[in-house]
Amino acid sequence: MSSTVAILSGTIYMDYRERIAAPGFIDLHIHGAFGRDLMEGTEDAVAAVATHLARHGTTSFLPTTVTASLERTVEAVRRLSQIIRSWGSSVKIRGAEPLGIHFEGPFLNPEKRGVHPAAHIQRPSTEVLERLVEAADGTARVLTLAPELEGALEVLEAARSRGICVGMGHSNATCEEAERAILAGATHAIHTYNAMRPFLHRDPGIIGTVLTDDRISAELICDGVHVDPTAVRLLAKSKGAGRIILVTDGLSCTGMPDGSYPLGEFTVEVTGGICRASGGVLAGSTMTLDAALRNFSRFTGLAYSECLPCATLNPAKLLGLEKKKGKIAPGADADLVVLDASHSVVETFVGGQPAIGR
Ligand SMILES: [Zn+2]
Repeated sequence: MSSTVAILSGTIYMDYRERIAAPGFIDLHIHGAFGRDLMEGTEDAVAAVATHLARHGTTSFLPTTVTASLERTVEAVRRLSQIIRSWGSSVKIRGAEPLGIHFEGPFLNPEKRGVHPAAHIQRPSTEVLERLVEAADGTARVLTLAPELEGALEVLEAARSRGICVGMGHSNATCEEAERAILAGATHAIHTYNAMRPFLHRDPGIIGTVLTDDRISAELICDGVHVDPTAVRLLAKSKGAGRIILVTDGLSCTGMPDGSYPLGEFTVEVTGGICRASGGVLAGSTMTLDAALRNFSRFTGLAYSECLPCATLNPAKLLGLEKKKGKIAPGADADLVVLDASHSVVETFVGGQPAIGR
């Protein structure tokens, strides 16, 4: 596409020579980084995560809750929403911009809860949803929901009517149950393959629906640990790069040495960069989106440029922000990443401002 743009006087020219300029990455599913857990709900914690993300090319993200007591969750959401709403005005931090909140829980299937504490998982309830939405005060963006649970479709419809995108996840849904959720307005799948009913050829389950139904996008944790590269290729061949959204599901241990780290009201252990809760259950990742993109290109054999929308335009579209985010175009926010020939991040701009500060 070619278009003419009027260059304002006083514009600063930067010559990155043979390097690549791409839209900044958007992470829809991240719990923390750099030793900080977003459930802390403090400006300090959000700033640490935002700064770390910018170093890896991410220019916007959805702070994501982990299932905790309702009181704790509501409090964290209330604080996060204040920070998000004052971002760029009273809160001035050079780093990735928080766009809104992703609620991972509490309406999850206990059988597929992963590391989310069983004690705090709740039956789907529009009253509980209402409390969360109210605490989010206009910043609720994504709800992870197990659609097969009693009352789930009612919650799904209530969330949709509030403009919240519903992703099916932590779910033991059959194909039929997943299809009913899509008809009710689900448009997305949360960390595809992980914490889902396994695919069997006579019982393909939610994974069968995610792989074959073009109405939904599919999150993928592409660190080579959460999903085997062959399953990544299967997803890429089924959905096409236009409907895959790379996420990190990153935890506070991202960018940190091995050890113990907080996640909501419990701790996780990191060994060799792999993060597990007590009992050995795989938790989120320690990966950043720049690495996810390189992995996805390597695992699938797709050109890097074909993979880029999976971390840029596709998440922007899911949030309905594609006019401003996920692309380099006149009128869009100047959220940019500069990459070298090996697709490592050289510089990041958020809203036209350098965000790394090298
Ligand atoms: Zn999860």
